[in-house]
Amino acid sequence: MIDAGWPDTFSQLLQLLNQNNISVNLINHLLITHFHPSHAGLTQNLRDLGTNLIVHEYQVPFINNLNVMYKKNPKANFRDIANGNYVVLKDWDTRSYFKSIGIDGELISTPGHSDDSVSFILDEGYAFIGDLPSLPSEEEAFDLIIDDSWNHIKSHQVNTIYPGHGEPYLLN
Ligand SMILES: [Zn+2]
Ligand SMILES: [Zn+2]
Repeated sequence: MIDAGWPDTFSQLLQLLNQNNISVNLINHLLITHFHPSHAGLTQNLRDLGTNLIVHEYQVPFINNLNVMYKKNPKANFRDIANGNYVVLKDWDTRSYFKSIGIDGELISTPGHSDDSVSFILDEGYAFIGDLPSLPSEEEAFDLIIDDSWNHIKSHQVNTIYPGHGEPYLLN
């Protein structure tokens, strides 16, 4: 599973899975594109059921940032994301881990929306990019970090982009 919605929406997630005949117990692994509330709010709920959390090494400090934010500003039913016991993938070698769980692909750091943003690239040509902003039009300011992230994504064989919000689209 990629990303795990707002806190306190677990029953909706279960309902959606149910409608699609997917048992929550089949979700063995969870990736979070970045640790913002709308993408990581249900992380611990899934881990409680045995799902393995996989993080990019650059994301590690951001996990606790989310816990701290919710401590300062409590929201109903946010489950603190427990420390440790997750898989940390090193920037230079994420492919071998995915291979070991039967997936051909890799996780790359693609900052721009946030410093902990990552994109998951499947060799089939799919890229799950979280909230990486689309490339600016000519009137907008050029953002070197965002541009670098897109270049990194495009250095792989990618044809379809799956943004965190909205419909997938073809990369041209
Ligand atoms: Zn975000
Ligand atoms: Zn978002």
